Amino acid sequence: MTIVTDAAGQTPDCAQDLAIVLDPARYADGTVLDLAGPLADGAVVLDVIVPARAPWSAVVTKGDVVTIVDVGGNQSGDCLLYNAHDTGERYSVPDTITWDGNVYVRTGTILRSNDGNPLATVIANEIDRQDTIGGACGKESNTLRYGYHTASEHGCRENFLGEASKYGMGARDIVSNLNWFMNVPIEADGALGIVDGISAPGKRVAFRAEMDVLVLISNCPQMNNPCNGFNPTPLRVIVTAGV
Ligand SMILES: [Zn+2]
Repeated sequence: MTIVTDAAGQTPDCAQDLAIVLDPARYADGTVLDLAGPLADGAVVLDVIVPARAPWSAVVTKGDVVTIVDVGGNQSGDCLLYNAHDTGERYSVPDTITWDGNVYVRTGTILRSNDGNPLATVIANEIDRQDTIGGACGKESNTLRYGYHTASEHGCRENFLGEASKYGMGARDIVSNLNWFMNVPIEADGALGIVDGISAPGKRVAFRAEMDVLVLISNCPQMNNPCNGFNPTPLRVIVTAGV
């Protein structure tokens, strides 16, 4: 049996067989997988691998830090945040951008709710910029953009809907989201691009929960544009206790 560990000797949890999920042969030729490790000090309270194309969620306690590792590189981790005690308060792209005065998310960006309250603060970021304007893929938009032959493919909206249903939420609760590690440049003419990534295996981002937050992640399954490098790979999520 293969034991999979990171550089510090830690083995993450995984709902599937970790040795299979982290087998480079499952992915495109030349795929490198790097588990890296947490970006914050503090005891590890949760450490999971989110397999390619899969959803994930957890409630993160105020003060704890979430590190997300782009294990295979250029993998979009679509993400939504909710007040864990009142999911009517949730991540708001326009509030975050307006308060921060920046369309890109970087270290120091406060991720705000539709009430303007801080849900989380980005405390470390190993790529130039994180996206929060590109939105989430879904069956309907795939069909419109790429053709009806893609109608059988699930997207991030379907991942979000399935995961949100565990908390009594439905379609009205799936709002505009963050895309960790997705490259959405704003071109000189104001157009948005969705282009090959600026991330790499083992790159990380970390945010601190500013209230008890429910975190939903869709490890993006998209294969019709380069947002995942046409090679969906796992993500690692590590929650460390606040210090
Ligand atoms: Zn997606």
